[in-house]
Amino acid sequence: PRVVEDPSGGPGRISTISYSDLTVNNVVGKGAFGQVCKGYHKKWMVDVAVKKLNSSSREQSIRRSKALMEEANFMYRARNANRFVVGLYGVCIEDTFTAMIMEYMANGSVGDLISRVKHVPWALKWRILQETILGMNFLHSLDPQIIHRDLKVQNVLLDEDFHAKISDFGLAEYKPLTSIGDEKGNLCGTITHIAPEHFKNPYMKAGEKFDVYRYIFQFCKLKFVYFGSSLGSIPGKKPYREIGIGGVIRERVMKGERPDKRQIPTEGPNELSFFVHLMENCWDQDAQERPTFRTLGEQVQVVTQKTNAQVAQAIQVVLKEQGDELHNIL
Ligand code: ATP
Repeated sequence: PRVVEDPSGGPGRISTISYSDLTVNNVVGKGAFGQVCKGYHKKWMVDVAVKKLNSSSREQSIRRSKALMEEANFMYRARNANRFVVGLYGVCIEDTFTAMIMEYMANGSVGDLISRVKHVPWALKWRILQETILGMNFLHSLDPQIIHRDLKVQNVLLDEDFHAKISDFGLAEYKPLTSIGDEKGNLCGTITHIAPEHFKNPYMKAGEKFDVYRYIFQFCKLKFVYFGSSLGSIPGKKPYREIGIGGVIRERVMKGERPDKRQIPTEGPNELSFFVHLMENCWDQDAQERPTFRTLGEQVQVVTQKTNAQVAQAIQVVLKEQGDELHNIL
């Protein structure tokens, strides 16, 4: 296949895929730049995910195509981590169609799972948390290191066996270039997920510990810690939901406020207290004190060695709940 040069001038060469080889079907997700559709590669006979751009003007189209190519380049660099990072097949760049063609993740994002299934069994939660760590550890261990910067439940996807993989490299940067603020010092990314040191100094380079801080929001969405101020908030909803205003969130996070732990269930498996402790380490006010993903990976392995044996059963529970849900709709 034809190859396109890596736009950042690095060593990557990304394959191009011809539009005529693809069938593009239903929309499975929406993002800031466009839509993600389920597709099919006719020659390879495999399902694919097609992340295609929507643009309202020629200038916007050029800007977005460049951004898409940059994202593809990050995915391409991480492609060897195919177990824990979503694979990139290539890009499709034709007259009116620009898209990134990826491995299709049949169970959508962790965010989708949570909205579909009320009670995700613990063992599956632990495995998702572990595999997220392993994917992030891989990105951080590359040379040059990739800092994701936008880790959240919508960007951790689940394959047909509910294994988790990291996706959406739209905000990713190589470490030496990375600052979380733009050239005017405006912070990029979701305000509730920004680490306190970056509020203090938006020009500060985002490093590993920035991604580690963001990792705690997996815990929020997996509904065993309830984010909010001391007023409490609703499980699984947006963090700091009742504070609402960006400036106030910023002030409170800088003062050390964190999610409300009082609502962590008192009843639960033994692993619960382990993961709560791990989460607290990840949101330490002092970035130096936060563990790296490597350390987290080592710590978590010991726990999930036992619980991973229960995942097959957990998946049956999820499939049943999804099936019942579908049945009710029909
Ligand atoms: P953002 O606004 O976060 O930048 P985006 O435009 O980069 O979004 P993605 O986050 O990459 O878009 O994807 C949006 C959604 O599409 C995901 O949350 C997921 O539900 C779905 N999706 C993305 N990639 C895939 C894939 N490879 N397989 C299946 N579903 C996917």
